[in-house]
Amino acid sequence: MPNRSPIFSQYAIFIILSCIMCSLKMLRPWPSPFPVTAKLRTDPRSVRIASKDYGNIIQEKPTAVLYPTTVDDILHLIKFSNNCSTPFRISARGCGHSVRGQAMAPNGVVVDMSSLRDNVIGVRVSWHPLLGYYADVGGEQLWIDVLHGTLEHGLAPVSWTDYLHLTVGGTLSNAGISGQSFLYGPQISNVLELDVITGKGDFVSCSPHINSELFFAVLGGLGQFGIITRARIVLEKAPTKVKWVRLIYTKFSTFTRDQEYLISTDGPNYVEGSIITHMSPPNNWRSSFYTSSDHTKVISLLERNNGLLYSIDVVKYYDDYTANTIDEELKWLVKDLNYEPNYIFQRDIPFTDFLSRVGKRDDQNSEVQTEAHPWLNLFVPKSRIHDFNAGVFVDIIRGHNETTLGPVLFYPFHRKKPEEVWSIEKLNNDIIEFCEKAGIKIIQYLPYYKSKKDWIKHFGPKWSTFQERKNKFDPRMILSPGQRIFTSVE
Ligand code: FAD
Repeated sequence: MPNRSPIFSQYAIFIILSCIMCSLKMLRPWPSPFPVTAKLRTDPRSVRIASKDYGNIIQEKPTAVLYPTTVDDILHLIKFSNNCSTPFRISARGCGHSVRGQAMAPNGVVVDMSSLRDNVIGVRVSWHPLLGYYADVGGEQLWIDVLHGTLEHGLAPVSWTDYLHLTVGGTLSNAGISGQSFLYGPQISNVLELDVITGKGDFVSCSPHINSELFFAVLGGLGQFGIITRARIVLEKAPTKVKWVRLIYTKFSTFTRDQEYLISTDGPNYVEGSIITHMSPPNNWRSSFYTSSDHTKVISLLERNNGLLYSIDVVKYYDDYTANTIDEELKWLVKDLNYEPNYIFQRDIPFTDFLSRVGKRDDQNSEVQTEAHPWLNLFVPKSRIHDFNAGVFVDIIRGHNETTLGPVLFYPFHRKKPEEVWSIEKLNNDIIEFCEKAGIKIIQYLPYYKSKKDWIKHFGPKWSTFQERKNKFDPRMILSPGQRIFTSVE
C-alpha cells in the first residue's frame, strides 16, 4: 500500500522566478601523513566552482575542496576537523543545485560528492523476502543514473523529483517532491536504510529499526547531522509507457477542487499543477508539452481570461498488459473533471521520457553560469490556499505580470537578467510579506533564512528536537554551514 503523505493537507508552491590556509596549517599536526591531503585542492578553479551554486546569488569561498575517491576519505576529513582545537566547517556538495549557498562552506572544506561517482557503490539492485526489491545507491549518484540503473532490471523508484540531475544525498537532505508525492510521499518516505558519516566522524548504518534517531534526523535534515554515503531505495516494477494529460482551467476554485479529487482517488500515478501567465507561457524550459497550434489556442484563452490560467497534469502509467484498457481508464479518470471544454491535451510517451522530461539544464554548470535563480518554494496550508490565490497569484503575480504556478506543485519560472534579479527578490519578499500580514502560515521548502530566530520559527515545536539531534550527531557544528542554521550570516 502506498504511504499517504502529510503533503495532502497542503500545497507545495514552487515559484521559480526566475582552509586550506587552515588546512595546510592544520594538516601538519595530524599524526602520520594525513590520508586525504592528496585529494584536497586549493586551486582557483576548484575553489571557484565550490563557491557558487545554481542560484548564483551567494558566493562563499571554501579554503579547499575535497575530491574523495572512497567513503573513508570523507570520514578522515570529518575526524580531522573534530580533532582540531577550532574545527573547520565541512559541506557535502551534490551538484550544487541549491539556490542560496546551502552547499557552501565559507573558509571550510567542500566535499565534491561527484568524485565518488565512479568508484564506490553506484546503483545495486537486490531483493529481500521482507523488503521486496530495493536499490543500494551512493549518496553522490544522480537520480537519472538511478533511473537507468534500475530500469535495467525492469524496476524503478516510486517517488521522484521533476528534475533528475540532482543527487540522492542532496534531495534526501531536503525531501524530494514531485507529482508522485501524493501517492508515495516524498523521496525521504521511500528509503529503507542509510549509511551516514556523522558530524562526529562516525560511520553509522541506520534504518527505521536500527539507529532510528539518526535515520530520521538525516532524512530531510538539511545536511546537518551527517553525510549520506549510501541510501537503500524502495523499487517497484517499472511501467513502460505513460498517458500524460494536461487540462486547462480558468477558475482557481474548479482547479483546486479537481486536484483534490484526483489525489483522493488511487487512479492517477502523477498529479501536478501550474499557472500560466504571459510571463510564464504554456511551453517553457521544463515543459514543451504543446504543439504550436495548441500553444496558440492556450495563449488565446489566456488573453480572454485576463492573463491568468491554471493547468493540471495527470499521468497514468501502463505497460503491454494494460495497453488495451488504458484509454478507458483515462477516460473514466477525467470524466467528472471540470476543465475548460476542449482544453484537454494528451501525449503518449515512454516512461523514461516522462521522468526525464525536464532536460539537463545548460546553466547547471556553475563555472559558466551567469544567470541568477532567485527561487521561492513554499508549502501553503490547504485552508488558506484561496486567500493565497487572491493575494499572490491574482494580485501580486498577475499585477507584476511575470510568473507561473499550480496547486500540488507550482513551478513559476522566469529567466532573468542579473539586474532583474532584485526585482524578483522584491516579488518574493512581497509574497512572504503578504502571507505574514494575512496570517497564512507558509513554510519554506529548500528554505533560506538569515537568522537563527527565523529557523526557530520555521521548525516551530520541532526546533528543540532538531537542536538536540545537532548536539548529539554534530556537536561541534561542523556540517553544512551554508544552511545558516547554527551559523549566522550576520
Ligand atoms: P546540493 O545543492 O549540492 O546540496 C543541498 C544540501 O544538501 C546542502 O546543504 C548539502 O550540504 C547537502 N548535501 C548534499 N549532498 C549530501 C549528502 N550526500 N549527504 C548529506 N547532505 C548532503 N527539488 C524537489 O524536491 N523537486 C523538484 O522537482 C526539484 N526540481 C529542481 C529542478 C532544478 C532545475 C533545480 C536546480 C533544483 C530542483 N530541486 C527540486 C531542488 C533540489 O532538490 C535541491 O537543489 C537539492 O538540494 C538537490 O540538489 P543537489 O543534489 O545539487 O544538492
